[in-house]
Amino acid sequence: MSNFWDNIINIFRPSNKISSVHFNSLRGQIVHWNDSGNYQTYNLLPNAISFPSDFWQKVTEIHRHTSGDKHERAINVWWADGDVVVTHSVRGEASKVNIPKQSIKVSYKQVSATSQYAEKIVKVDANVYSKKTVPLRELKNKKRVVVQFLFNMHTHPPHTDSNSQDGRSGSWYSFFSETDIRSFLSSNASVTGLVTDKLWILIKTDLTPKVFPEISESDLSPDTLTTVFNFKVYSGDLGRMVIVHRPEISGSQADK
Ligand SMILES: [Zn+2]
Repeated sequence: MSNFWDNIINIFRPSNKISSVHFNSLRGQIVHWNDSGNYQTYNLLPNAISFPSDFWQKVTEIHRHTSGDKHERAINVWWADGDVVVTHSVRGEASKVNIPKQSIKVSYKQVSATSQYAEKIVKVDANVYSKKTVPLRELKNKKRVVVQFLFNMHTHPPHTDSNSQDGRSGSWYSFFSETDIRSFLSSNASVTGLVTDKLWILIKTDLTPKVFPEISESDLSPDTLTTVFNFKVYSGDLGRMVIVHRPEISGSQADK
């Protein structure tokens, strides 16, 4: 009886059926894919990915900055010994890409000589990014402090033409450009992202081509990124999890 009602409820809440993988548990694989250039099989990648709340806080803040001054931001996602760190910098004008190099440093310092706690300090380019207190016993068996670059993303600003693409007024966002995809394909990165009013995540698979295929920029869409480029394509509202895009594959014939 209870099974019956569970099923009925699930019909009205389809998102309940998608089990997500937390980003922190993908972190080791991302580093491996980036280093080895061997990417995962499509079906072995998760269908949904959830992110920690401080990741979303930072992404939402960067989205707000881009909406405010209409400048693209380059976003770097790092692993700072147990925490996901998101940094950003202005990417310049729409046609000009300029991403300054950044560095991340993680250090632990005992709060006082007798304290059982240490302060974990994350610095980005010598500026303090975050501080938190951790129990000393957690550091006892630490062999090394792990700081890793994971992937980059960028923002696209909203366009507010009166004649927007869909004929309605209001703002719209451009999708991944040919330049975005070309630079992703030519890099070792296994993951990239785009922040509009949504978060888009692309993960390379073992079938992703090394060079840009014969396709025009106007044909770049979640469908073609999945079927032509063999990326696993995810999207989601800011602050929610990202869910895999299911491409529409169709064929048709008219009678003669
Ligand atoms: Zn772009």
